[in-house]
Amino acid sequence: MLRVISRHGRCATTLRHPLTTQFSRKSHLQTKTVTDDDIAQLASSPLHPLTLTDLVRHGQPPLTKEQLYESANFTLSLLPARLAHRIQSMRNLPYIVVSNPHVSKIHGNYLHSLSTLLPWAKRQITTLEEELEFTEVMADLVHTHANTIGVLARGFLEARRYITPPEVTKFLDEHLRARIGTRLIAEQHIALHMSSQPHKELCNESQSQRSSFIGVIDTCLRPADIIRQCEDMVAELCELKYGVRPSLIINGEPDYTFAHIPMHLEYIITELLKNAFRATVERGMEREPIEVTIAPLPEAPPPNSSEGITNLEQGNLDRASKTDAMLDKETQSPAARASAATIRPLGESTPGVTIRIRDRGGGIAPRNYARIWEYSFTTFNEEDAEEPDLYHGGASLGAGGGGGLDVLSGSGGGSSIAGLGYGLPLGRAYAEYFGGGIAVQSLWGWGTDVYLSLRGVGQVDKKQ
Ligand code: ADP
Ligand code: MG
Repeated sequence: MLRVISRHGRCATTLRHPLTTQFSRKSHLQTKTVTDDDIAQLASSPLHPLTLTDLVRHGQPPLTKEQLYESANFTLSLLPARLAHRIQSMRNLPYIVVSNPHVSKIHGNYLHSLSTLLPWAKRQITTLEEELEFTEVMADLVHTHANTIGVLARGFLEARRYITPPEVTKFLDEHLRARIGTRLIAEQHIALHMSSQPHKELCNESQSQRSSFIGVIDTCLRPADIIRQCEDMVAELCELKYGVRPSLIINGEPDYTFAHIPMHLEYIITELLKNAFRATVERGMEREPIEVTIAPLPEAPPPNSSEGITNLEQGNLDRASKTDAMLDKETQSPAARASAATIRPLGESTPGVTIRIRDRGGGIAPRNYARIWEYSFTTFNEEDAEEPDLYHGGASLGAGGGGGLDVLSGSGGGSSIAGLGYGLPLGRAYAEYFGGGIAVQSLWGWGTDVYLSLRGVGQVDKKQ
């Protein structure tokens, strides 16, 4: 099922869209067999680093026919090479790892998606029929790679004797970051398609309710709303598992809005709240509310901001300096923060926001501190832990671990409060994707502060 943003654009659940049924007819898609030559040739072309500017470059919805074709052709120009790079990087893993049935299933998914794109290679999309067909290919791509985080996690756990932990981290970091970008490119075209002029009659209702959206970007995203919505979901998981739910207070500037991708924020916040709720309850501290502070970043040019926000798929962010920047912001005056509301053209970066999640759950043991960013590292009680659900892994809440995508649409909904060990590393990959970050500060024996920083995408200047 295609995961779409809710009527307010802020729901992590998977909803049915009027076009979903049509989009899910996978068998109707044309495919072309992928040869080793196709992969080698496509993988030899350089990757275009995705920027938020790319996502808004086709204009504000509703798009005209011509803008929609531009979006489809731009999407088509990016995806085959991205898929081929992933296939090649999986094939570079030790043979015994890639032949693990779970890893091999993921490899097969990529081959399938590339086989649905090859018939479009070297073509220009110039009619509404072609564009609709191409959007079906995009929906199939999103659907195929939804909820696969648990499969990947299982595969690498089973193969851990044949590959070292640093090799696993390197592969997964690169793979999952690339996956975030690929899903985003496909989701953006689907969202633009659904809100475009030519297809408007199909989407009247959702279009009128999503006027602050440019595809998957909400230009008026209110983090406090996302936090409340994720709180509901996580509290339910918590009650199911432990029979109690801690309370949560939001302070700072709850009315702050900025332009960002709700699905990404939903994924990250869900994972951070799951950790805070679990620690709080396991420590018997549910009488102490979890405190979430929303602190807009001061108006200061972020490092390397002249080129707008670039993507960080390779994980090359200087994490140390980012943490300093986040701490600086905590000391800024409200006046300095208010100036962050300056209107900027969409595509330019804005300072954004830091969200601090503070719990009294006892903190992280020093012996574990260095390992919390490893994929699959967890202290969740193994006896209690449910088998990682291959299709609803903890890491994919709402967004599809991609939540929604996997996270978003892919995620399908984390059915367990913890246990996969992907929440922190994958949450950080999402945060870093457009220049944000996550820093964890533990006070062992007391509690944990998690700082999530996100840079905004720019505001829509209606006069431009
Ligand atoms: P999982 O939640 O599936 O265990 P994560 O990547 O989300 O995986 O977290 C890894 C580990 O980090 C957790 O198992 C826990 O030991 C530790 N951790 C993360 N957040 C907190 C927190 N707020 N309080 C205490 N421990 C935490
Ligand atoms: Mg977790």
